[in-house]
Amino acid sequence: MNNNRNYKFLLSDLSNLKGVGIKTAKLLKKKNINNIFDLLWKLPKSYTDRSFSSKIENLRIGENQTITIIPKKYSFPRVRNLPNRVLCSDDTGEIECVFFNSYEGYIKKILPLGNEITLSGKIGRFRNKYQITNPKYVSQDSSLIKQKHNTYSLTDGISEKVYNKIIKQIINELPTLEEWHSKDILKKFDNITWNKSIIELHKPENIGEYKKNFYKRLAFDEIFSTFIVNSEIRKKIKKIKKINKNINQIKQNELIDILDFSLTNDQIKALKEINTDLSSSTKMFRLLQGDVGSGKTIVSLLAAYNTINSGFQVAMMAPTEILAKQHFDLAKKLFPTNLNIEFVSGKTEYKIRKKIIEDLSSNKINIIFGTHAIFQKKINFKNLGLIIIDEQHKFGVNQRKKLSDKGGNNCDVLLMTATPIPRTLTMTIYGDMDLSIIREKPKVRKPIKTYSKLENKINDIIGFIKKEINLNNQIFWVCPLIEESKKLDHSSAVKKYEYLKKIFPNEVSLIHGKTDKNEKETILKKFQSNKFKILVSTTIIEVGIDFPNANVIIIENANKFGLSQLHQLRGRVGRGAKESTCILMFKSNLSENAKKRIKILKNSNDGFVISEEDMKIRGFGDILGFKQSGIKNFKLADPIHNQDLFLLAEKEMKRIEKSNEDLKRFKPLIKLYDRADIINDIA
Ligand code: ADP
Ligand code: MG
Repeated sequence: MNNNRNYKFLLSDLSNLKGVGIKTAKLLKKKNINNIFDLLWKLPKSYTDRSFSSKIENLRIGENQTITIIPKKYSFPRVRNLPNRVLCSDDTGEIECVFFNSYEGYIKKILPLGNEITLSGKIGRFRNKYQITNPKYVSQDSSLIKQKHNTYSLTDGISEKVYNKIIKQIINELPTLEEWHSKDILKKFDNITWNKSIIELHKPENIGEYKKNFYKRLAFDEIFSTFIVNSEIRKKIKKIKKINKNINQIKQNELIDILDFSLTNDQIKALKEINTDLSSSTKMFRLLQGDVGSGKTIVSLLAAYNTINSGFQVAMMAPTEILAKQHFDLAKKLFPTNLNIEFVSGKTEYKIRKKIIEDLSSNKINIIFGTHAIFQKKINFKNLGLIIIDEQHKFGVNQRKKLSDKGGNNCDVLLMTATPIPRTLTMTIYGDMDLSIIREKPKVRKPIKTYSKLENKINDIIGFIKKEINLNNQIFWVCPLIEESKKLDHSSAVKKYEYLKKIFPNEVSLIHGKTDKNEKETILKKFQSNKFKILVSTTIIEVGIDFPNANVIIIENANKFGLSQLHQLRGRVGRGAKESTCILMFKSNLSENAKKRIKILKNSNDGFVISEEDMKIRGFGDILGFKQSGIKNFKLADPIHNQDLFLLAEKEMKRIEKSNEDLKRFKPLIKLYDRADIINDIA
């Protein structure tokens, strides 16, 4: 270990390592290994134990074995395609080392005649002689060979031997890092240091030992660094002073009174939390999380109304035009007519847009709905008091921070998401925000009946649909995209559309990824107003749109979807008071594991429960495509298996926040694990 170095060594260039030239560095960079620290997480997959040596007479053919021999005689035939050979022996027999494509000079160097050499490799037998071909592990120092050699999932062009050498070098030169954790935390991991943990992590015999202290400590480090960064962002936002809003409860309740339903307890609670934030003198940065259909929109509109009544403007953004429009229509219906409510999207005519821009900057518009067009550079609000963002689950920490900055100090921020994820993940992904959760669904809802059906029973389904159509109900028919040689294929949807059109003429429409944007909007609007009965689509049905008259969803090839995704799709129906049905179609009989998963879906209509159960079966990586969503992946920590560590991190973070401890000691941790620009000015 090297005491003169600090953590910066770990962040330094790979070329600081002996034996890593430009070529190797390039190969590693291809694998996203950009510095020494990244290499630490390149873990051995297995190992070959070369510790025990054997006498030649006891060699087992076809196995990796280690022998100590003396080279006796070279044979360099100097004929193309004929290998060079070295005859070697010990006191029990002879073995031939066979070299293809190796120079005499090299061979003489590694196998000098008359010297004792240890080598290891796969033993072969040819013409009644033992032989070993192109031995890689050769040395006069037997201790270098007689050990456990790690096997890595190899990067093209870098051999195992080189990897072992590089990693060993790093382990030998690890800088001694000062402990960043408190004594109490450290005790939970039997006081194992970061350095010792890294060393243990790379020991071949520790492969897969994720329940051991070294592993848990390192997983905790990872989790905790994220929590600190989140906490720092939060603190920064909390420091921002704003003009507080005055909530007019009377006006708010008047609006609640005209609703044709009463709010659920969770809706009331969330609204209260938001109101408290609005009326405080620090900026709100809050996430409203609730399963599909839990009724987030009305909560956000009430918050918007309160903000307007306090003299501020509001902007509400949705990911798609049709969803934004739906919110706009609802506001038009609910809010008093004296309020100026506007809508803007990429398609808004130039003249209208110009007028909107003027009116926003002169405070004539109270609330504007729209797509991301709301936040164009040209648009300036006179007095923006609240930004509401619906269904933007792909917004990462950086984008959220930017958004919060954009609104200015007086602007509160409310994000809404229906993506049900377990609490450990919420803490990680949205840890910079305060959280309101709506768990309870409106009571008027009838649960969605979920069935599975084999594809060859499609006639039963058609019969069922006919009945539903006679009741004036509408149907979603979802076909998965087929991924064939990297091209997305929507032919299954097209085929199903053709098929259904023959049975239900004039009652079927189709949308898929290639459908023109305008056409798509038109079709969705027609569907919304019950102009036709069956909408065939790939999975692109917009999140969040209300089609209260649709009460049947049929999902083909259901095994192609994750449970959470199926749950989200199922959430397209069951929004009205009618009985709803979800039919999952399968091509063939289900495996036991698949049956287990479908059972979860049938038994629960709670997105949080479903995602948690699904993760227990599948691990969290695949859930809802988190890998693609740009959300940070942990190297070791797992939100399901390490739930205890997440909870511990949460507790410790709260303690630190309360005690106002100096965070300087965490600087190396943060610098190593989270290279987000956000933390540049921490500590
Ligand atoms: P989401 O949380 O998925 O955004 P929405 O806000 O779109 O859900 O609400 C879904 C449907 O439920 C809407 O038609 C809405 O009018 C209705 N709704 C909302 N709150 C209640 C409630 N408390 N009781 C009955 N229906 C409600
Ligand atoms: Mg919604």
